[in-house]
Amino acid sequence: MAKPILFYISHGHRQDVGGGKTDPGAVSGKFVEADLAYKCCKYLRDYLLNHRGSMTYKVAYPEYKGNGMHLWDHVQDIIRRRVKYRTVAIDWHFNAGGGKGCECWIPKNNKYSLELAKLILEEQQKIGRPLHAYDGKINTAIHKDSTLQFLKAPGPTLLFEAGYVDGKTDRKDFDTDKELKQIAEAVGKAMIRYYQKYK
Ligand SMILES: [Zn+2]
Repeated sequence: MAKPILFYISHGHRQDVGGGKTDPGAVSGKFVEADLAYKCCKYLRDYLLNHRGSMTYKVAYPEYKGNGMHLWDHVQDIIRRRVKYRTVAIDWHFNAGGGKGCECWIPKNNKYSLELAKLILEEQQKIGRPLHAYDGKINTAIHKDSTLQFLKAPGPTLLFEAGYVDGKTDRKDFDTDKELKQIAEAVGKAMIRYYQKYK
């Protein structure tokens, strides 16, 4: 029998950078990447746990209390958990650079990461979020880069960039907790669809 699926969630930043400070990620006014991603990841975790029913997936969110973990520690943690589980790992980010829309980064040659990225962007489209793609197409908003540290973890992994903290129109889509929750729950729906396909 296949090992159970374990969804592994990370909020990307908040790593200890010394001097009592943590890495905030991208910042624009009151929009702080690390704080937004933390909220989304908590909503995502709750959604997955509350909608599990008789499904057999597990959820791990080691930064749940708000701390940050270094990327290399995530990779080691994922490696350890893969003894018992099929991990599916997502690292949550927001972008800066004045753009618009969401996108995914996945490792090269991992069809499971690609499948999950497509499902996530499809669910974002359903709630009206734009894609960061000149032609509006899902494939254009999926980038492959195996050199990103989080993507060096084994198994399906991806980075989700939920939007631009300094995107003047973009951030209107996530300036309330209600909207952050909706974005997170759409990701949760995509993860459950992934589970249904590969359980
Ligand atoms: Zn980031």
